Amino acid sequence: MTHSAKSEALADTLPTALLIGGDQVTGSSGGRYEHIYPVTGQPNATIELAGDVEVDRAVKAAKEAQREWIAMTPARRRDLMIDLADAVKADVDRLARYNVHDFAVTYMTSPGHVMLAESFIRYYAGWVDKSTGSSTPVSDKFDVNLIEREPYGVVGIIAPWNGSMVVIGLNVAPALAAGNAVILKPSELSPFSPLRFGEICLEVGLPAGLVNVLPSGPEGGEALVRHPGIDKIHFTGGGDTARKIIATASPNLTPVATELGGKSANLVFDDADLDQAAILAAWQGPLGQSGQSCACGSRILVQNSVYDAFMERFLGVLGAATIGDPFDPSTMMGPVVSQAATDRILSIVDRAVDEKMGTLITGGRRMGGDLSEGFFIEPTVFADVDNRSSLATVETFGPVVSVMRFTEESEAVALANDTTFGLNAFLQTTDLRRAHRVARALQSGSVWVNQNSDIQPQSPYGGYKQSGSGRAGGLEGLHEFQQVKNIRIGM
Ligand code: NAD
Repeated sequence: MTHSAKSEALADTLPTALLIGGDQVTGSSGGRYEHIYPVTGQPNATIELAGDVEVDRAVKAAKEAQREWIAMTPARRRDLMIDLADAVKADVDRLARYNVHDFAVTYMTSPGHVMLAESFIRYYAGWVDKSTGSSTPVSDKFDVNLIEREPYGVVGIIAPWNGSMVVIGLNVAPALAAGNAVILKPSELSPFSPLRFGEICLEVGLPAGLVNVLPSGPEGGEALVRHPGIDKIHFTGGGDTARKIIATASPNLTPVATELGGKSANLVFDDADLDQAAILAAWQGPLGQSGQSCACGSRILVQNSVYDAFMERFLGVLGAATIGDPFDPSTMMGPVVSQAATDRILSIVDRAVDEKMGTLITGGRRMGGDLSEGFFIEPTVFADVDNRSSLATVETFGPVVSVMRFTEESEAVALANDTTFGLNAFLQTTDLRRAHRVARALQSGSVWVNQNSDIQPQSPYGGYKQSGSGRAGGLEGLHEFQQVKNIRIGM
């Protein structure tokens, strides 16, 4: 497969050093990592990995920078965050291309990740000089009783590889707006766009050390979580990692907020616009980010009376999808992130076939031909899947979806809720009453009706059940990074 000249050009500029206290740090204690480009299976850069030494240095730099940050007037901090949003917007093409180099997200999608970050930074800039406390009466002595919100201090933000720019918007932006300094730990699989973001923070004049970027694997993450100078951890990733992080944080009782995975249901009712439903199901299913999205609608529940009509359209959309070089602007689906992910996803497919709790109707193989060197997996659909099967219960995090039938609305709701996850759900219907009724019945942090997973800065995003406890977006997202103080003045 050939790559566009433009992508080759920017590959030479990928940032590889850690960013601590405004300095680019090499020779780090965590060693180095040969980053593999998922399209070719070949190295595209060797990056530094953070270890204990760098985490300690970053905590010291962040503490100092946070004092400088909070000493500025709110108007100054607001303006700097607006400058940051402007600078991210101005750099959208580079950030988007670095994001493609990170994990081979398609260039059709990656500018959207950058602009999502920009929109959150701009939105949270607005809160810097508008966040308020309150005052309530407490006694008959007319005491002054104030309830105020303060920053935690230094927060560690741990990001998954599939959404560094998204996490920068959802979590780094409100953390800064609340007055904190940040140590951002991207995955070693996805270091380039966050490192560039760190450079932009310096270019716009944020205090050196206010945003430190320390890519690493689990070891660097553990060093961050265990450090006594960290005042809060905000983690986005998988449930198993969340359990380890909560255990690592427990000796210092460091608070941990979690934004975790999902096994989201997409309910297609007989009154849906089936053409639109098929496109949404394909994009929110196997095609978008090759299914490597927390919001992936991996369980598609279809009402019996429209099952055949929906499936014909859905498989038609998948069959027509362009799969290949993510830098080609017409490519809809790229590879999955790594060889390990390829093996894991194909083993889920094999197990599903062996279990016979669903029928493989398309896909299920690694792609060959000129895609054979990359980690490309065919869009894969299993039909008539048992909701208790491993396929329907495990987060696939690849281009593999289950389709199930239902007859009654109540049956669809029961199936959708019969999972340990509760991140989001999709609902395809043209009946307004049904939309409200079913949305309320779903045990899910977000419900998108006739709509893709369009995360907006004004709306809190986060999970029910084992999909996490944190919220990003809106005032709820700001409150994640503020602790509450009560001041009582005796009169
Ligand atoms: P992961 O849990 O393997 O890793 C997430 C991050 O944690 C990485 O930076 C990793 O290096 C770090 N880490 C791993 N072990 C650690 C440890 N012991 N201590 C500290 N840090 C550690 O997840 P992933 O494979 O990078 O991302 C995919 C997961 O993220 C999926 O489950 C997906 O659903 C979830 N996700 C959730 C959201 C959301 O907003 N809810 C968004 C994107 C991704």
